[in-house]
Amino acid sequence: MDPAKVAFRIAEPQSPPTEITGCCARCSTSARLTPTREVVSRSFTGWDRWTGPAGGLCPACTWLYRTTELRTLPHLVTATPTFAAQTLTEVLTLLLTGALKQSAALSLPLRPGRRHLFADLTWGTIRTDHANLSWTASDAARLGAVHHLRQAGFTATDIPSPAPPFTSLRRLPSEQWAAIQHLWDSLAPWRTNPHWLAVALKVT
Ligand SMILES: [Zn+2]
Repeated sequence: MDPAKVAFRIAEPQSPPTEITGCCARCSTSARLTPTREVVSRSFTGWDRWTGPAGGLCPACTWLYRTTELRTLPHLVTATPTFAAQTLTEVLTLLLTGALKQSAALSLPLRPGRRHLFADLTWGTIRTDHANLSWTASDAARLGAVHHLRQAGFTATDIPSPAPPFTSLRRLPSEQWAAIQHLWDSLAPWRTNPHWLAVALKVT
């Protein structure tokens, strides 16, 4: 069962009655369907992962695309099973702890409301607006570095730079500069692949 279906079972939303039956356009489940056009707008662009081009959506997939909170708040699903909205502080704590377990899936809207990212959750990954990201112990350590730099006064605009901006650095005692440079250099792998850095900047 994929993370979205686990979440649907726990949420147990009331589905509106519908007369159409058939195979869901997104997940192929045979079910009572809600017409696709009543669920997603004409500007919807996420068809590529659907198994059929049109028709209708099953109750689980209808819930996925109609539930506004899934597009605005982070949510954590586990195979236990659990499903719950998360604050950004809770996400920070989780991701600082270490690698994301294969039995967990985290959705993290970077620009809330913009995309139906929850439907693309997969186990063991963080789903952001544009990608499913693995999260290793090394990523947790790099997030710790970003957290430290943010607390030291560096901004979300500063941190993607290849070197600490001197205007921010000079506000700190010079004996801290070497440690700051060390933290800065540890983020090099994220500067060439900024999806992970976007997660870190969102939660710090
Ligand atoms: Zn479906």
